Amino acid sequence: MGGFGSGRRGGRDVTAHYRRLDVRALHRAGALSTGWRGGWCWYRRGAKVAEINIEASEASIRLRYTATSNGERKDYDYPVMLTRTGCNYGGARPWFLCPCCGRRVAILYGGAAFACRRCYRLAYEVQSETDADRAIRRADAIRARLGWEPGILNGEGGKPKGMHWRTFWRLRAEHERRVAGCFVQLRADMR
Ligand SMILES: [Zn+2]
Repeated sequence: MGGFGSGRRGGRDVTAHYRRLDVRALHRAGALSTGWRGGWCWYRRGAKVAEINIEASEASIRLRYTATSNGERKDYDYPVMLTRTGCNYGGARPWFLCPCCGRRVAILYGGAAFACRRCYRLAYEVQSETDADRAIRRADAIRARLGWEPGILNGEGGKPKGMHWRTFWRLRAEHERRVAGCFVQLRADMR
């Protein structure tokens, strides 16, 4: 299994970003049904870049995977609590409770550990390592040129109207390089 951090380069974890775990996608796939177990994979350009194992019980899902944290491979195994809210048309909409702060969210982001966007933002803010801040700022500068929403956890957007494809591909590649330089270390003990 590839797991997280399989694309390490220059001592930094290239794949620390972009692992979105969307509760709605899990729900659609039936992966929140009590007793469901299976793998959940992430792909990049057709290649599997990460996989986690999920086991669903009534009020939580159990996540199990191997990830690189501080340069060390580590096994993770912890529950993410679920909550449900009623819909207008009956039925219930599921939500995650962030394992870090307990907030109700639809999407968790996975570095070594999964947490909500806000927790990742806080992690940026408490980063004393200025390299990471600088890398994030530089990535955001490229994002601004591309007209993308600031914040590397927001994923990649499309080509702005009027921009040449060559310019777009060049900026996109540059963005990818800069994102690779942003290493966000969420405390591994936050679960
Ligand atoms: Zn959180």
